[in-house]
Amino acid sequence: MPIKSRIRAIPDYPKKGIMFRDITTLIKDPAGFRLVIDGLTQRYLENGVDFDVVVGVEARGFILGSALAYTLGKGFVPVRKPGKLPADVVSQEYELEYGTDKVEIHLDAILPGTRVLLVDDLLATGGTALAAAALVEKVGGVVAEMAFIVNLPDIGGERKILDKGYRVFSLTEFE
Ligand code: 5GP
Repeated sequence: MPIKSRIRAIPDYPKKGIMFRDITTLIKDPAGFRLVIDGLTQRYLENGVDFDVVVGVEARGFILGSALAYTLGKGFVPVRKPGKLPADVVSQEYELEYGTDKVEIHLDAILPGTRVLLVDDLLATGGTALAAAALVEKVGGVVAEMAFIVNLPDIGGERKILDKGYRVFSLTEFE
């Protein structure tokens, strides 16, 4: 059974009209979790994307990002919700459908010129990934690629990210 069929669809979550793609059913299955981490590992062992560190976005990006950093022999840097990181941080606000949200990274987590693989579970509008990329760049890093389990191309995030010149990789897509 492939990755896609292990992802549970939850209608009307977090609000009416949204079909939430729940990856917890994928990663609780040992074979499913292995497919995800092996799929991403293979990509970065084989395709020559050059990077120094994995940056994962809270919270599901931590699960994938840390396992992937381990298999690739890289370090892991968290991007977190506001107020969670203990040392000096850089912040980036981004637009939601209603209002704004914010993400943070430690000021000294990425040294200037460091090449970063940005990881999250799912790409929808691209707002979260672009905010995380902006953080990496504010501290002098370079985003080598953005990697996701799931892309929702119809929502347009992938297009937006590609148009800004970033590279995107995802293991699967839903309409
Ligand atoms: P975006 O910022 O691209 O609109 O939304 C992506 C962010 O929201 C990611 O951090 C992702 O974890 C979360 N997200 C949005 N929709 C879904 C969904 O259907 N399933 C999951 N697992 N995460 C989602």
